[in-house]
Amino acid sequence: MFKLFRRLLPSAPVADEAPARVSRPTSPPLPDELIAPLRRTCWRPNVQSGDDPLRSKFSGTPAATPGESWPACANCGKPLQLFVQLDPADLPPELTAPWGSGLLQFFYCTSSDPHCEVDCEAYFPFAKSVLLRILEGPVTGAPGPPPPGDFPAKRIVGWNRQDDFPVAEEISGHQLSAEDVDALEESGYPIVGDKLSGWPAWIQGVEYPECPECGGAMTLLFQIDSEDNLPYMFGDAGCGHITYCPTHPRRLAFAWACC
Ligand SMILES: [Zn+2]
Ligand SMILES: [Zn+2]
Repeated sequence: MFKLFRRLLPSAPVADEAPARVSRPTSPPLPDELIAPLRRTCWRPNVQSGDDPLRSKFSGTPAATPGESWPACANCGKPLQLFVQLDPADLPPELTAPWGSGLLQFFYCTSSDPHCEVDCEAYFPFAKSVLLRILEGPVTGAPGPPPPGDFPAKRIVGWNRQDDFPVAEEISGHQLSAEDVDALEESGYPIVGDKLSGWPAWIQGVEYPECPECGGAMTLLFQIDSEDNLPYMFGDAGCGHITYCPTHPRRLAFAWACC
């Protein structure tokens, strides 16, 4: 028994070494009354390989209105890569889709010739090579052809609910010391990886896009991290965010940043 224990001991610390970009938060060691106002809920998607063009998922065949062809990049004209599609009926029961009804779709041009990501500065919101839309009414699977190297489809079949806390720059007006803020960060917050709602895991700093209608700060809808559910890296291990305006919730934006 002692031998076995000794053999296991050296490997024990390895379990604590989470691979990069994989979130393993622990409960923040802070009094609840201090951090309760900062707590938000986020949901990590549970996925399964396979496609259903009309449901919530990563990549694969997007839904389209009948007769519509596969959505194309406004810059290069090639078929766009579907990154995420969300059906309000598939969201966690506690969460009402901010955009109301319709399928939310996020397409991102992955063409390298021309290099739309760079040419269109797709790291900034409202880039020409990005398509965010809400599809209402009857829909069907878009006819091909898909973009070259189309990412494998993963259906979102459930959600893993977790508490989430913001980066230090978003904590102001709260009774937290610098040590408290460090403790939150060391506990693994904000949660990295793909997630619905919660607090953005900013890489460069707080960068909420401004709503084109009212100028107000948009808020997080869905975080898309590099190489989590999508085999795609934003720059050097960047992290992207689909945001919406709380006043005009059908106004959507996408932007990403990296180190
Ligand atoms: Zn393009
Ligand atoms: Zn607005």
